Amino acid sequence: MRSWSIPVGRLFGVDVRLHLTFFILPTFVFWTDYSLHQGNATGPRDLAMVGIILVCVALHECAHMLAARRFGLVPKAVILLPLTGVALYDESHVVKPKAAQLWQREVRLALVGPLASLALASLAVGVVTASGRGYELWKFPFLQATNLPKSLVWANLYLAVLNLMPAYPLDGGRILRAFFSRTLDAAAATRRAVSISNAIAMVLMLAGLFSDNWLTMVGVIVFSAAQLEERALVFQSVLDNVRLEEVMLTDFATLSPADTLEDALEKAVHSLQDDFPVVRGSDMVGVISKQRILDALRAEGNGYVQAVMNKIFEVSLRQDSLGSAFRKLTARNSSIIPVVEDQRLIGIVTLQNLMHSMSLLAETRKLQREESES
Ligand SMILES: [Zn+2]
Repeated sequence: MRSWSIPVGRLFGVDVRLHLTFFILPTFVFWTDYSLHQGNATGPRDLAMVGIILVCVALHECAHMLAARRFGLVPKAVILLPLTGVALYDESHVVKPKAAQLWQREVRLALVGPLASLALASLAVGVVTASGRGYELWKFPFLQATNLPKSLVWANLYLAVLNLMPAYPLDGGRILRAFFSRTLDAAAATRRAVSISNAIAMVLMLAGLFSDNWLTMVGVIVFSAAQLEERALVFQSVLDNVRLEEVMLTDFATLSPADTLEDALEKAVHSLQDDFPVVRGSDMVGVISKQRILDALRAEGNGYVQAVMNKIFEVSLRQDSLGSAFRKLTARNSSIIPVVEDQRLIGIVTLQNLMHSMSLLAETRKLQREESES
């Protein structure tokens, strides 16, 4: 997914990515520090400030994800922005609650974040006050690289308050969308929330140009987050609604277990496929990849496909969803799924062709939507 983010690691089984806006932040903090202190800004101090914001956002998002777990939603990945995070959930084993309960769940999930930030702010106030040093907690400017303890308190307070703005996908915007979803279907509710969010982002960006530059930064973040979230939702709906028969390859090459590896490689060279079903008569007996054939040839010389093919594989049916195929692929760490009907091989789905069809399908849906709106 083109998401303008880079992976930074895993936390409690969740892939964590940092969004591009996080890399603009140090420059931005440095610039603010510089203009406040007449060129007396220091790099390490400013980086510590960015670190504080990162940790506060990460904790805010952890609160959301822990709450989501309680509702049976399993977080897979999260993209962190300096104000919020966009999380992707694995909804495969979730029993979807009734619409009436769904919107209440959304509101609860949204409120958890600001409450957590508020709790962290109080904790920070407690610690700072107990330290007995005068940090001028309530004196403007609140976010200041020269006063990191004060910034710790205010970063959390700002996160709690700003996230309540009705700008989707900030928490306030999620609550707004939940209310829309009482009368509209999910996609329409999201669209309405996103357009309100875009308007707010626009106003913030413009207002920031004439007043505090941090407003512009907030506007940029809100706008980016809304784009990300919308794209994730399109991706999710493609996964849920597209059947394998719409995307499977029906014109494909197969190998026989009795083929020698050299023959198999020869066939593979003349095909665009990276993965092959291995078929005996009309029975599916295994799968093998071009890479596996090459590796086996290099390591042990010529042999038979039978000996090196993968005999454990999952099959899907033509009416299975794209999402279920994706999960089978990632769970088995394999790159091909045979599609069968009455035990007969009727198509294949490979990781390679999924990637292509996903982006094509997402574009097609977007076009259809734009057409239906105009
Ligand atoms: Zn939040």
